[in-house]
Amino acid sequence: MAGRQTLRYHAAVMSFRPETLRGALDQGRLAGQIDYRLARNALVREFHKGRLSRLDLCDAHPDLLRAAINVGEDSREDCPICAETKVRLVSYLFGPRLPPSGTCVSSKREMARLTRGTKDLACYVVEVCPNCSWNHLAQAFTIGGSAKARSGSS
Ligand SMILES: [Zn+2]
Repeated sequence: MAGRQTLRYHAAVMSFRPETLRGALDQGRLAGQIDYRLARNALVREFHKGRLSRLDLCDAHPDLLRAAINVGEDSREDCPICAETKVRLVSYLFGPRLPPSGTCVSSKREMARLTRGTKDLACYVVEVCPNCSWNHLAQAFTIGGSAKARSGSS
C-alpha cells in the first residue's frame, strides 16, 4: 500500500536521532511546507507553566549542537527557554542519493549544490540554542519534483 511505503520512508528519516528533531514525530507524512510553530509554542508554554523542565527540553545532541555553532544560520529569534541568545538554524537534507542519516547543510552554496537537479529531497530545519541546548524542528519541506506536481494540478 502507498500508505505503508510512506510510513517506512518516514521511519527511515526519523532514524536520524529523533530526539534532535523534536516535533517531527507528532506529524504525519511530510507534505509541502509545514510549520512546526504550534507544536513548539505548546512546549514552550508547558515549560513556562513549570510542567516541563530544561532537562526535558534542552537536550540537543552534541553533533547537533556542534552543527549549530559551526554551520548554523543566525536567526533573529531569542531562545524561548533561556532568552540569553538567539537560536541558530541547522538544515538537514534527506533524499535518495544522500546518506540514510541525512546530510547537514553547511552553507547556502552547499544547499544549492545538493539540491541542483535533484527530486524529492526532504529538508528539515531545526532551531538550536547554543547556550542552553534547546532544540526543536522549525520547518520541514520538500524540494523538487513531487511538490511541484501537486501544486501544479488544476
Ligand atoms: Zn537557550
